[in-house]
Amino acid sequence: MRFLKDFLRVFFPNLCVGCSNELLYSEKVLCNFCSNDLPILKLDDCTSNIVTASFYGRTKIEKSSSFLFFNKKNITQKLIHNLKYNNRQDIGNYLGFWFSELLKSNHFMHDIDAIIPVPIHRKKKIKRGYNQVHTFCDTLGDIFEIPVYKSTLFRKSNNKSQTSKDRYTRAETISKDFYLKDHVILRNKHVVLVDDVITTGATIEACCKELLKTDNLRISVLSIAFTENS
Ligand SMILES: [Zn+2]
Repeated sequence: MRFLKDFLRVFFPNLCVGCSNELLYSEKVLCNFCSNDLPILKLDDCTSNIVTASFYGRTKIEKSSSFLFFNKKNITQKLIHNLKYNNRQDIGNYLGFWFSELLKSNHFMHDIDAIIPVPIHRKKKIKRGYNQVHTFCDTLGDIFEIPVYKSTLFRKSNNKSQTSKDRYTRAETISKDFYLKDHVILRNKHVVLVDDVITTGATIEACCKELLKTDNLRISVLSIAFTENS
């Protein structure tokens, strides 16, 4: 097996997603240099931070956190791009595992009953082959022993992002795009909604509008990355 791995590495070397240098055997996804450079947000206070604040006055969120700071030129963008478009689903496992250490230290998951990935439209899922947040959610689910509900919330429309509209109009439009298949299963629960990148927050807001039709449901939010673009 080791021989086969060595053989394959000659033709398909494992390259760092950040700098494209060849990875050592002990490294995964990122080389030590790039992983030390990762823009980790370290949001210890989950009820009052930049992510939670971005939803003030828009929708009721119990608490929230994001792992990385995102901008169009940084290493987070490369990680998300590869996770989303290059079938690098292992990046979701890698970041989920790392993020879980921070979530253990601030006890974020201690009162969470279920993890709900933000859904993508069926056609997009067929084309891409996967929902890009599923491996991230599965890793958190495994570590914290919390079920991941992948067939509860669905996306009805395959709209392109409507960047020309202001965020309120956009949220209003997208809110009709989601539907909850089963309200009963979520009753009296505290769920965490998980997305890849929170930019305007419109997608999360729209999901919340649909989810909050459930009796006595509480919602928290996690994302792989956050950008203050809203
Ligand atoms: Zn690197």
